[in-house]
Formats: sequence, C-alpha cells, structure tokens
Amino acid sequence: MNDALFAAPRPDALAARDLSVLWHPCTQMHDHETLPMVPVLRGEGAWLVGADGKRYLDAVSSWWTNLFGHAEPRIGAALKDQLDRLEHVIFAGFTHPPAVELAEELVRITPPGLERVFLADNGSAAIEVALKMSFHYWLNRGHGEKTRFIALTGSYHGETLGALSVSDVALYRTTYAPLLLTPELAPSPDTYEGEPGETPREVATRRLGDMRALLERHAHETCAVIVEPLVQCAGGMRMYDASYLTGLRALCDEFHVHFIADEIAVGFGRTGTLFACEQADVSPDFMCLSKGLTGGFLPLSAVVTTDDVYQAFYAEYAAGKAFLHSHSYTGNPLACRAATATLQIFRDDPVLERNRELAAHLARRIAPLADHPHVGDVRQTGMIAAVELVADKATRAPFPATDRRGLRVYRHGLAHGALLRPLGNIVYFMPPYVITPQEIDFMVDTAIAGIETAVA
Ligand SMILES: *Cc1c(COP(=O)(O)O)cnc(C)c1O
Repeated sequence: MNDALFAAPRPDALAARDLSVLWHPCTQMHDHETLPMVPVLRGEGAWLVGADGKRYLDAVSSWWTNLFGHAEPRIGAALKDQLDRLEHVIFAGFTHPPAVELAEELVRITPPGLERVFLADNGSAAIEVALKMSFHYWLNRGHGEKTRFIALTGSYHGETLGALSVSDVALYRTTYAPLLLTPELAPSPDTYEGEPGETPREVATRRLGDMRALLERHAHETCAVIVEPLVQCAGGMRMYDASYLTGLRALCDEFHVHFIADEIAVGFGRTGTLFACEQADVSPDFMCLSKGLTGGFLPLSAVVTTDDVYQAFYAEYAAGKAFLHSHSYTGNPLACRAATATLQIFRDDPVLERNRELAAHLARRIAPLADHPHVGDVRQTGMIAAVELVADKATRAPFPATDRRGLRVYRHGLAHGALLRPLGNIVYFMPPYVITPQEIDFMVDTAIAGIETAVA
C-alpha cells in the first residue's frame, strides 16, 4: 500500500485509478462516465470524509451495516487487541474465545428456542446455510420429498444462486432466472399493496389466507417459508403488520414446514426491538443475522437455530447425517471479536431507548412529505423510513424506472453532503444509531430538496 495515497490524496487521481481497475457491485460502470466515484479516506460517527475533505452524512449506514458510527472506538479497540492475539484459525476441530462468547451471547439475546449458532461470512452465505440446513433436516428425518421453498413477492435474501432463488426483486433475479431454483411465491403482506381502506392488519390477515392456500397445495414438498420480518428492505422498504409473523408461525407449525426469519437487515435494533420477530412474539426455526452483527466493521453472519434442528444431524459418523457447509474463513476471530464488541455496546448503552427518540424525531420530520404531490407513501418502522415517489399521487402510478428519479436524489445528496441511495423511486433513511436530531434534520432537509429536484 502506497503511503502517499493517504498522505496527499488527490481525489480525482484516486477515482481515475479505481475506474481503470475495479468493478463495483450493483453498478452499471458506464454510469461513472458522468457520475463521480467518491474516494473516502476516513469515517467518524455518522459521517464519511472524502479524499477532498468533503463530508457525507451516511444516511444508509453504508448498505445497512453500520450501527454505532464509522470507526467506532470501542469496536476498534477490541479489534486492535484481537489483532495481536489471533487473526484466524481453522474452525473445524479448533475454536477460540470470540466465537464462543459470540455464540453464547447470540443464544442469550435471540428469541427463546434458538440455541445453536452456525457461522458464515456474509448475509447471502447465511441464507445458503439456512436453506441447506432446512432441506437436510427433513432429509435426515426421512422426508427427502421436501425440496422446495416458499418466499414472499418482493423479497430479497441475497445474490448468490440459492439466496437469489428465494428473492423476488426483478432487477437482481430476472437475468439469472435460468440458473435458479423455483420457489413458490406467496403474495407479500406489504401494506402499500393493500386494497384502499384496508388496515395493515387486514392486509396481513388476507395474505395469511393466501399463504394457507399455498401451503395446502405445497407443504408436502416444502422445506421452509423464508421471510424478511416486518420490512422487505431491498424490495423497496415495504412494511407489514407484525400479526403476519404470528400467523405465519402458526401456519408453519400446522403444515410442518420451517420458518426462516431473515433478520440480516432488520436485526439489531433497526425496527425498534432488538429483533423484528420480537414484535410478533415469535421464534423462527432459523434466524439469519449479518450486516449490523459486527457494527459494520467486518463481514460475518450467523444462523441461529433450534435444538430440534441440531439433533436431526447429531449421530454416529457412519449415519452420514452431518451438515456440510464450510467456508475457509468460518468463525474468523477478528470478525467475531467485532461482533462481541458490538453486542457489548447494546449492554452498555441505552441503544433501543435512544433509537425510539430518534425514530420519533425522524417521523416528525418526514411527516410533511405525505402531502407532497409526488409522494405516494411515507412509512416508517423504527430506524427505517421510506418515501415512495410517484408520477401520479391519485393513482400511485410510479415514475418509469428509466427516468431514474432516485439517481437524481442521489446526485443531489452527494452535491450537498449526504449519502442517500434510493432504491429506484423509493428514497429511504436508515442511518447509524449515533445520528443526532440535528443531523436527522440535515438528512431529511437534503432529501426533500433532492426530491424537489428529482420530480421537477
Ligand atoms: C443484505 C441482505 C442479504 C444479503 O447479505 P449480503 O451480506 O449482502 O450477502 C440477505 N437478506 C437481506 C434481508 C438483506 O438485506
């Protein structure tokens, strides 16, 4: 690494070097012929500091990973300590304190009945693990005919082939569809897609009816139903009533299929409770965690499951029942240590209480947008808020995707010091929990100005 890169940064040079050798995710690289690439050298709190000294408020928590701010000193100190002890060790046959402590803490804080932790490296990998483990559970229990999954319309569970298979966001899925498994899709309980006048609870109840009908036809061949509890994030921050999860738990029990809760985005306090499932008082059979798990420091994921699942694999070697899924970096000590330091902050600080106040402030600040002629919906669940831009308020007809209105909001944000990264025509806020009320004001004001430019 070239020291000069940090000592005397020349932002344009850095951006040019990047664009000549790198290939970025979720990006049509051609866009960068006009869209600036933003080199970042530092982060502090809710802010990113660009190579040119310009500051950007990270309104999207760097893809929903960051919880307590960039370069959070307590997580940083734990990592520095861990660096001098053990950077990595094979995780088959060997273990280490950060992994053990992390697993004990996850079992303690996740809903009752979740007692076993399997580690992986990122969110998609956790989904792969949960899908394989559910299938393999039924196989070990003598139900090899269960080979399929049920997912919700509008769901997003990652972009590796298995995780993409159970996702329903056209942008990511359509092109690769010929390579994918074919899940059954149940209509999402998404409140925005409800009938006029229907309450969120009524939408949920009606959609549980659809799920029941699907299970009546397919439960015999179905391993699991997989959902994002309360908020379908990448699908457009679509939100639904908690009663859907309670009803889904009962249906999964009745029809003998697993319930996989993908809390990769909504876990760790995002929705107001530590885990979104708590708001429905349900324990899934598998809970997938990642993103905020390490406070946004390092890639790591966990699948937390039940003793019943674990016992289905526990047998003499010759029985051939062992679960097989291994990543070279499984249980990486640095990542686990970042996670234990992150969970320690939840014990030391009144995180959820503070988030409640911040969420209330955010709600007050975005409320006026509901009257905007090009806003079809303003919705919020805890520290996630979204504003749906529409071409026509009365019919909620969306702007054509090719208009790229969201991109205009993004550009406006960059020019004015905020990292806003709309999902299509949906402008959303998912800031780090260390954001201040004044920073929320700045974030929302910048977004409103951006929306005005975008819809003009
Ligand atoms: C981000 C996300 C994933 C995938 O996680 P990666 O670490 O990006 O692979 C899966 N599910 C949900 C709900 C997510 O938001």
